Amino acid sequence: MNESIIDYSGYFQFPGLTALFTKNSYPFSPPEDRLELTKIAGFSSDRLVIPKQTHTNHVLVVDEPAFLPDTDGVITNKRNLILSIQVADCIPVFIADKSTQTIGLIHAGWRGVTNGIILETLNKLESLGTIFNNTQVLLGPSIRKCCFEVKEDVLNHFPTEYRNTDDQGRYWIDLQSMVVDQLIGRGILGKKIADVHQCTKCKNDQFHSYRQEGVSAGRMVGLMAIN
Ligand SMILES: [Zn+2]
Repeated sequence: MNESIIDYSGYFQFPGLTALFTKNSYPFSPPEDRLELTKIAGFSSDRLVIPKQTHTNHVLVVDEPAFLPDTDGVITNKRNLILSIQVADCIPVFIADKSTQTIGLIHAGWRGVTNGIILETLNKLESLGTIFNNTQVLLGPSIRKCCFEVKEDVLNHFPTEYRNTDDQGRYWIDLQSMVVDQLIGRGILGKKIADVHQCTKCKNDQFHSYRQEGVSAGRMVGLMAIN
């Protein structure tokens, strides 16, 4: 595999499953980048699902290639359909249930999470018959509590248990813990949730970070498919 691409496929122990994530050294020029990435992954680029992400809690079950407006999570139980998302600080959430051959890929930023995108995803998975006891989840590189400093406008959306503060009254949010708690609260087993523990702002040498680079920040692409 290209050294600009991280391969998470092995974590899932799911024959035929591909789960990839690009680093900042991957040339990003959407949507052409995803076409190239699908070829590298060994899939046909005309099988792509591309959501137009808008920080919503909108999750769609898809069964054919599509460009989806106003969508931040995609799920499928079809083979040879390539789910994709893009992120730069928000959490890329990879989900797979081998027993029902179902996969999901979620763009989980603070707006999506506080508006329930994780719970919405699990509701949709349940409607497809997904077995939560068997479901594996991986949280990819994203901004963490070391760097996710917020002001009151954002802070007020979060329960106190996910807030960290210092003696100068500054606040940081632990978004990953909130996501993990929501997953476990809904029936996903803690031992089947993996967190890569990589902060995109701390590791800006490897990843794009909106907080570090500002509006001109590039994006990483997450891709997931079953062949
Ligand atoms: Zn950090």
